[in-house]
Amino acid sequence: MENRYDAVVIGAGLGGLTAAAELARRKLRILVIEQHSRPGGAATAFRRGKFMYEAGLHMTATRGRDPELRELFRESGISDKLHFVPAPEFYCIHGHDFSFVFGNDIPDTIRRLKIQFPEESDAIDTYFHKIFSMSDTALQINQSRGLRHIFQMLAAPVLYRDTLKAMFANVGDFLDRTFRNERLKILLLANIGYYGDDPYQLSLLFFAIAQTGYYRQGGHYIRGGSHQLADTLADYITRKGGKIMTGVQVSKILVKDNKASGVEFYEKNRGKKQTKQIDVPYIIANAAIPHVLNELLEENTARRERKKIAKLEIAPSIMSVYIETDKPLSELGNAFYSTCFYDSRPFDLHGMADLHRTDYDQRPFILCDYSQIDAALAPEGKGYAVLSLFDYYADWAGLSPEAYRSKKAAAVTTQMERLYRKLPQMRGHVLRTEAATARTMERYLQTPQGSAYGFSQKPRQALLFRPGARSTVKNLYYASAWTLPGGGFGGAISGGKICADTILKDLGIR
Ligand SMILES: Cc1cc2nc3c(=O)[nH]c(=O)nc-3n(C[C@H](O)[C@H](O)[C@H](O)COP(=O)(O)OP(=O)(O)OC[C@H]3O[C@@H](n4cnc5c(N)ncnc54)[C@H](O)[C@@H]3O)c2cc1C
Repeated sequence: MENRYDAVVIGAGLGGLTAAAELARRKLRILVIEQHSRPGGAATAFRRGKFMYEAGLHMTATRGRDPELRELFRESGISDKLHFVPAPEFYCIHGHDFSFVFGNDIPDTIRRLKIQFPEESDAIDTYFHKIFSMSDTALQINQSRGLRHIFQMLAAPVLYRDTLKAMFANVGDFLDRTFRNERLKILLLANIGYYGDDPYQLSLLFFAIAQTGYYRQGGHYIRGGSHQLADTLADYITRKGGKIMTGVQVSKILVKDNKASGVEFYEKNRGKKQTKQIDVPYIIANAAIPHVLNELLEENTARRERKKIAKLEIAPSIMSVYIETDKPLSELGNAFYSTCFYDSRPFDLHGMADLHRTDYDQRPFILCDYSQIDAALAPEGKGYAVLSLFDYYADWAGLSPEAYRSKKAAAVTTQMERLYRKLPQMRGHVLRTEAATARTMERYLQTPQGSAYGFSQKPRQALLFRPGARSTVKNLYYASAWTLPGGGFGGAISGGKICADTILKDLGIR
């Protein structure tokens, strides 16, 4: 087949679309192949009658302000066309016997934390000072260039010791060293659901960078649904001469002499028998790295990489219950956009991972009430919210379709009963619920174990330890939550940009 494209991107999630859009902006001809019927991957919302069901985005600190992405976001229209609605607060936590609203005004939040935990007053200052300073130093080193960058890297062991140590440390130990009060530790980690389920397996430096983004910029939702971010990037790629094919599955990456040379694919509605091939000089996998290595490459390729990747731990999935109500939840007793419920039983930080992995009637959950903001997801006078909690593929694997359906229905009933106990006024006002599990994520995103964030952000798997954009197969690149810097909207978008920059560098384009 003729060589019409400079690169093919496997998957139209945010990482793939960002890489494609950036390369298209730099005049490369790009083909994006997506197996689902629309672009977006986990950045998606879908219509149900008059409601728009947000399937993923709860909040993001990314709004196209990142200097590295400013040009792409401006040219593609993301900065102008999309409306990033600020969440009124970062989160509210309902603990076993306490609650606290972590507001967007950080000095005020610190003041209220000190009132609630006066004995920890100095430690609270230390916490925020260290988190901000680790994050600022890491970003400063990352953004420096040339001689300055080399100097900063060399001087890091002396000048930036805390930041360097944080690369190897975990959040749980850091909180244990900083505070004595278990409630306070849990309160500061209430949104751990954005990163992973275990504080002692969560990179301190990664947490500091991600959390600082929220502390400083607040969380935002994309008015009308997160799919618009993907659609805007997809439109831009097309305007720049690229092509997006949906409903098309890539079944193989073609490799000659350890160099990727093309892909084999088929239209899903026609079936596997009618595969086609396309030759392209560059291949970008937005698809999950384990899927690429185990299913798209021949067994005898990338042996060392395969072994290394097989040892990495995968982050858990998320179960979501989408909830329509006949009134906004603010009229049914709910006062917050994002509420983290940790109130099933008392526990300390060491018990947090177990609690997330326990039975459905005990697991902490987050309620995201989109009707608290101008989210434009529910029709006038109605409400839409999503209840989410960690979910584990092993709990669903091997079930027959019938057993799966009945287990899922039972899990939804359990979660709704728990919610009614928190917000009794909601009872009788729910119009409809629908749910997605780890198994749903695995099916729609083709991501192993339905993982929401790719490889888990353990210290030895985060940041510089995470797979980069280059694979060991020449001309095969990665751009997704599975690469540096990691999961989340911001992470996948940055991963896409890093991938595009790496290819441009390899092509000698500045
Ligand atoms: C329920 C849920 C809630 C979340 N909430 C938030 C949030 O509030 N804030 C936040 O920042 N992040 C959130 N995230 C995380 C964030 O959405 C993801 O980390 C990020 O969107 C992943 O992007 P990605 O580019 O890595 O790929 P994905 O979104 O996983 O997309 C990969 C794409 O590749 C396609 N694909 C795979 N294999 C093939 C193949 N062989 N051929 C063709 N196509 C293929 C898939 O169909 C998919 O579209 C959430 C995730 C989930 C699941």
